[in-house]
Amino acid sequence: MKPPAELFSLAGRVALVTGSTRGLGWAMAQALAAAGAFVCVNGRDEALARERAAALRGEAHAGDVTDEATAQSIVDAVIARHGRLDILVNNAGSIWRGALDAHDSAEWHRVMDLNLNAAFLLSRRAVREMASRGHGRIVNIGSVFSSIARAGAPSYVTSKHALVGLTRALAVEYARRGVTCNLIGPGYIATELNASLRADPAFSERVVRRTPAGRWGEPQDLAGAVVFLASDAAAYVNGVVLNVDGGMVAAF
Ligand code: NDP
Repeated sequence: MKPPAELFSLAGRVALVTGSTRGLGWAMAQALAAAGAFVCVNGRDEALARERAAALRGEAHAGDVTDEATAQSIVDAVIARHGRLDILVNNAGSIWRGALDAHDSAEWHRVMDLNLNAAFLLSRRAVREMASRGHGRIVNIGSVFSSIARAGAPSYVTSKHALVGLTRALAVEYARRGVTCNLIGPGYIATELNASLRADPAFSERVVRRTPAGRWGEPQDLAGAVVFLASDAAAYVNGVVLNVDGGMVAAF
């Protein structure tokens, strides 16, 4: 049996985390780097991606991952540079808030393109290289809204549920070639994405009441889950939804 330090070590692994210039992506990029991985940082803001990558002694691969050619070229560039891509974290995501009957079609597609379709484009490109070496880890960042729904975010809820389908489809198709695919379902974690919700005392208190842990999450609450799923410790963990939500999905 390997000692825990070795089991969870990501030394020698190359990771790409989409949307890792800010928020949860940045926290997970830091966690993967701290566990020994070489981390490729992504976001549309190239200057910030370079700054973040430099802080991790990693590499910036800026670009809009909803653009098919860009998504493919980012994966190709990482593989060309390092000869491998071990860990892909499909994290970049966004939300549109409002009722279904007021949902603009363009906004619906914008949310689907980032939260679901970008994960497909990047995974499609990455999984072949992973499978050819017999090792790979794909971690999709869903949400508690991959498991339950809330009113007022229909495209978000739909995209995050669909991401569970993509996760399981990948998991069963590539398991025999050493690739796993799992989904992390974060609860309410304080980032720019939900700054407006936190600024609303009534909503913010509702989150605290609704969360058994009795608090909003912090981005670093995701660190252990992503390192675990990316590591050898999770070699036999495949197709799961791992909620990191202070117990929210478990609670009535
Ligand atoms: P933020 O809005 O704080 O950060 C989003 C990151 O994604 C930024 O780095 C942003 O950089 C990047 N990004 C946005 N659009 C694109 C794009 N088209 N191409 C490449 N990068 C892009 O979001 P969070 O950290 O809060 O959320 C991250 C993920 O976690 C999302 O999938 C979200 O749904 C999920 N999540 C978040 C929760 C929360 O409470 N915060 C709860 C549950 C799930 P740039 O703008 O420069 O491109």
